[in-house]
Amino acid sequence: MRAATLTDEAESKDGLDIALDARRQLAQTEAAQYDALLGYLADTADTPLARAGGVNEWTRYGGSGTPSVSEYAACEVGPALGLSASGSRDLIADALDLTYRLPRLFACLHEGSVDAWRIRKVARKTRKFTLAQAGDADRRLAAANVDGTPLIARVSMGRVNQILDQIRITEDPDDPENQRNENSARRSVSIWPDDGVARISGTLSLDDGKRLDQRLDQIVESLRFLGDNRPHGILRSVALGMLDEPDSLDDLYHQVQTARAGEDTQTDNQPDQTDQTDQTSQTGETEPTPNPAPPDGAERPDAFTRPTRTRGSRATTLYLHFDRTWGTWSLEDVGAITRSEAAEILGHSHVTVKPVIDLETTISATGYVAPPRLKEQLGLMNGLTCTFPHCTRPARVGDYDHIINHRDGGPTNSRNGHRLCRYHHRAKTFTAWTVQSPAPGIWLWQSPAGRSYLVTGGTTTKLPGRTTPTIRNRRKRDAA
Ligand SMILES: [Zn+2]
Repeated sequence: MRAATLTDEAESKDGLDIALDARRQLAQTEAAQYDALLGYLADTADTPLARAGGVNEWTRYGGSGTPSVSEYAACEVGPALGLSASGSRDLIADALDLTYRLPRLFACLHEGSVDAWRIRKVARKTRKFTLAQAGDADRRLAAANVDGTPLIARVSMGRVNQILDQIRITEDPDDPENQRNENSARRSVSIWPDDGVARISGTLSLDDGKRLDQRLDQIVESLRFLGDNRPHGILRSVALGMLDEPDSLDDLYHQVQTARAGEDTQTDNQPDQTDQTDQTSQTGETEPTPNPAPPDGAERPDAFTRPTRTRGSRATTLYLHFDRTWGTWSLEDVGAITRSEAAEILGHSHVTVKPVIDLETTISATGYVAPPRLKEQLGLMNGLTCTFPHCTRPARVGDYDHIINHRDGGPTNSRNGHRLCRYHHRAKTFTAWTVQSPAPGIWLWQSPAGRSYLVTGGTTTKLPGRTTPTIRNRRKRDAA
C-alpha cells in the first residue's frame, strides 16, 4: 500500500525537480561561458591582432560603457566555439553588456534563476540604450519577489519588451522618433530556401506594408471568388508569388470580372439579393466578395489556375547538381529537389542550362584579377560558402583571395585561389591567420593563437593541439 507523507514528497525529487536543477545548472554554465570569454578578451586585449603596418581597428561590440575589442577578435572566438562570424560577434557583445551594463541580471544568470536566452534577448534589445537606461532596465527586470525569482523569469517576454519600451520612451523622449528613423534605414527583404519552401522576412515602410497587405487580401478574395478554398495563409502565399506574374494577375481579374458580370445578371432577376449588392456599392469596394464554399470543401470546377509563364517573364538561372552516389538532383542553395518540385520550377521560368564547371580542372589567368569563370569555379567549392572556418557567408559574393600573395609570386589560378567573404579576407590580409591548400577543395587554417582547422566541403574540423607563437610566426614569415 502506498502511504506517502508530505515529508516524503518534499524530500524525494521526481523527474521534473531533476529537470529544473539541470536547467539551473545550464544557466550557471552559460554564465561561466561569458566569464571565460571576457577573461580571454581581457588577456589578449594588449596583443594587437593585426600585423605591424596593417590595420587593427578597435570596435565596440557591446553597448555604451563597454570596452572596445579588436574587430578581428570574433575571428578567433568564432571557430574556437564553433560559431559563425555574426554568432561570435553577438556572443561577445552579449557577454560585454551583461558584465558592464546589466550586472544584476548577470547575477541572476550566475544563480541560475533565469534562462540565458531571456537575458540575451534583453542584452540585444538594450544594446542601443544609454548606460542609465540599461541600468534602469537591469534594476527593474532583476527585482526579486519573496522567493528570490527575478521579474524577468516571472513574466512573458512580451511584458519584458513593454517594460524596455517604457524605459526608452520615458528617459529619452526624442528616442521614439530616432528609433523610427533607424528602423526606416534598416528596411530590407530576404528570401531564403528552407526545407522545400522559400522563407521570406523583411521590413517595409509602413505605407508599403499596408498596401502590400491589402493587395494580397484583394488577390486572395479574387481566388476565393473563383472557388479556391485553400486556407487563407496558403492563398496569401500564392498571392505574393503572383505579384511577379502580371499575366497571371490580368487573367485572374479578367476571370473575376466575367464571373461577376454573370452574377450581376443573375442578381437582377433575384430581388432577395439586392441588399447585398447595395452594401457593396455603398462601401465603394470594387473587389469581389467571396462565394460560399461549395459542399464537402470541393473546389469549384472553374477555380483559377495560374497560367504557364510565357510572355514577358524574366529568365532565371538555376544551378543543378547531380549526385552520382544517391542519383538525385539538387538545386543550388536549396538542396535535393523532387521531380515534381523541378517540374514546378521549370514550368514557371525560362531555363538557362549552364555547363557544369569541372571542379578538378585548374583554371589559370595571367594577371592579378581572377576571371569570372575561375571565380565561379571557386564559388562552387566548399559547399558554396566562404572557406574560413565555420563561416556561413556565400562564396559566390565573396572575394578571390590568393593563398600565396600575387606579389610574392603566387599565381592566379584554381590551386592558389579560394573565395573569402570580405570580413575574413580582411582578417587573412591584416592578421596572423594563415591558410594552405594541400589538395583541391581542402583548406588548412591556422589562427593567430595557434588553433588549426581543416575546412572542406562546407565543413569545419577543429584539429587537436595548438602551435606555439614561434612556429606560427616563422610559418607566416615563410608564407609572406
Ligand atoms: Zn567568411
